[in-house]
Amino acid sequence: MTELSPALKQATPVLAARGEGVYLFDEDDRRYLDFTAGIGVTSTGHCHPRVVEAAQNQVGTLIHGQYTTVMHRRLLELTERLGEVLPTGLDRLFYVNSGSEAVEASVRLARHATGRQNIIAFSGGFHGRTMGAAALTTSGVKVRAGIGPMMPGVAFAPFPEAYRHGTTEAAEVDRALAELDQLLMTTTSPKDTAAIIVEPVLGEGGYIPAPPRFLAGLRERADKHGILLIADEVQTGVGRTGAFWGHEHAGIGPDILITAKGLASGFPLSAIAAGEELMSKAWPGSQGGTYGGNAVAAAAALATLDVVRDEDLVGNAAEQGQRLIEGLRKVAAEHPVIGDVRGLGLMLGNEFTTSEGAPDAATAARAHAAAAEEGLLLLTCGPHGNVVRMIPPLIVTAAQVDEAVACWSRAV
Ligand code: PLP
Repeated sequence: MTELSPALKQATPVLAARGEGVYLFDEDDRRYLDFTAGIGVTSTGHCHPRVVEAAQNQVGTLIHGQYTTVMHRRLLELTERLGEVLPTGLDRLFYVNSGSEAVEASVRLARHATGRQNIIAFSGGFHGRTMGAAALTTSGVKVRAGIGPMMPGVAFAPFPEAYRHGTTEAAEVDRALAELDQLLMTTTSPKDTAAIIVEPVLGEGGYIPAPPRFLAGLRERADKHGILLIADEVQTGVGRTGAFWGHEHAGIGPDILITAKGLASGFPLSAIAAGEELMSKAWPGSQGGTYGGNAVAAAAALATLDVVRDEDLVGNAAEQGQRLIEGLRKVAAEHPVIGDVRGLGLMLGNEFTTSEGAPDAATAARAHAAAAEEGLLLLTCGPHGNVVRMIPPLIVTAAQVDEAVACWSRAV
């Protein structure tokens, strides 16, 4: 008898039968509030009628036309449409299927374009599980464990983590930037450094927003040394943080932007965006993939962008994110084991710590499982698995936020 590999062992006992908006239904038709959204993917909710219609129409017309062999209309339309939301100057796009592949593509582009080899990533960062992306990743030891040697040329700088270090944000930013400067004088000199890759909100590392002054400091150093700044917006993009892109909160722009997850409401699609001069350094054939820019995924992405605009999902993420964080902070006030509640928009984490301030993964796991019993699906993250995160579809309503907070309060 064949079985799923142990790696596919389910975190919750839920066997999903169907999805509708913010809800998932299991095979016994039990309803769950899905605050995991397929790890931040089903941004428009499960099976949004406009996304379903666009995908169904496309399936009957053209499923696949490999883009280095034949181009197709949906990808051209999507490229034009993304131009309406991308930062000025990032007007050349390249498509693949997943976040990891897009990260790989961004590193290839940065190395090609600069002729430099090294990449600076941040401790606690997550960029994926393929070998190149895993080499940039330190959150989740399991991602790197036992698969070395890793891709060389990666240097890690600290990410500001004020809560965990028991200090102020200002002091953490000063420390992190000073250590980055030190790194640039020792481990990786600027003339060897192709890029700095950063998540606008540290995702798998525990939902820690990058302070605006920190991102501005990275931009400043990148400009000074001719290093490319890559924003990994795989999790933070397409409205998730209450701005269309997470980096907008800092008022800076990247040289390369990576988008995936929420872009196509569950269809596999990712992209990197960069300026014309930079992107022209990646010649045809140097990047690509058989399924990249799939026509059905592109149609779903077009519908997703329409829904995000027409239903003001960016505004809704900001508004409901505020309501959710306020609710979660009230729960935390009654449960000191939740030491910190933080995040941006609808990307919120509850960090569990013991009274001595140590990570408390056991209590986090209990609360996570109890929430599922209450009908609320959540995820954990953080270097010790002690952060319970909430990442609902961007269509979530105030009533559903209140329902989730009530479930959470019973679960903790
Ligand atoms: N980058 C970030 C910031 C992510 O959060 C993830 C996945 O969670 C990835 C990259 C990898 O994306 P994927 O799992 O689609 O390969």
